[in-house]
Amino acid sequence: MQPEANVDAPEIEKFDALAHRWWDPNGDFKPLHDINPARLDYISQRTDLSAGPTVDIGCGGGILSESMASAGSATLGIDMAGKALGVAKLHALEAGVDIEYLETTAEQLAHNRAGEFRTVTCMEMLEHVTAYADTVKACAELAQPGGDLFFSTINRNPKSYVMLILGAEYVLNILPRGTHEYSKFIKPSELAQALRDAGLDVLDISGLHYNPLTRSCRLNNDTSTNYIVHARKPA
Ligand code: SAH
Repeated sequence: MQPEANVDAPEIEKFDALAHRWWDPNGDFKPLHDINPARLDYISQRTDLSAGPTVDIGCGGGILSESMASAGSATLGIDMAGKALGVAKLHALEAGVDIEYLETTAEQLAHNRAGEFRTVTCMEMLEHVTAYADTVKACAELAQPGGDLFFSTINRNPKSYVMLILGAEYVLNILPRGTHEYSKFIKPSELAQALRDAGLDVLDISGLHYNPLTRSCRLNNDTSTNYIVHARKPA
């Protein structure tokens, strides 16, 4: 398979079209801003971000990448949305954060930088590609032996449909319409299988709950909608 095959072009166009809104804390990407402290905490508690380089797959405008770089990790953010990367670079420059951004896919990067990264993050991205298991495999290749990998995505069931598509996109207008496609949501058991197939050990799966009214986020063991996963590449 060509690496490019795992890019859903209309998805990338969608993110590029909204790129200028990326760092507006009250704009289209508000939920990503609101959940970022909780996911950074989750990552920081489970890996030593300063122990080695980090790659953030599908980094978009760089909300998570920049926070990991600020926490002391040499960070590379990659994405296929060039305009989003442009916004990410400009924001890092203005914030004085040293960070590298590249327009590429996980699969392409794995061709020449396999085994380089102590930490691999891939948040809210797997539900936007055509073959998530291939992305997971590329992430596993990019990790150092003993490295930590973090993924977050959305479960697929009637509740997640009502909450994430009907509720978030049509009733509360928290996300632009068309942000998510139900058929691309991934059950935790399916993601766990893809992680194991890629040779990774699954260490934790936690639910990630965002309350749009209070704009707060908390983690618990209810994985029925959004969830976050910690996996490790055997040493
Ligand atoms: N991870 C970021 C952004 C999530 S939005 C965060 O959580 O803050 C999803 C991002 O994945 C978008 O920026 C989109 O352009 C990117 N993306 C989708 N398919 C991709 C692919 N095949 N390769 C690289 N990036 C991709």
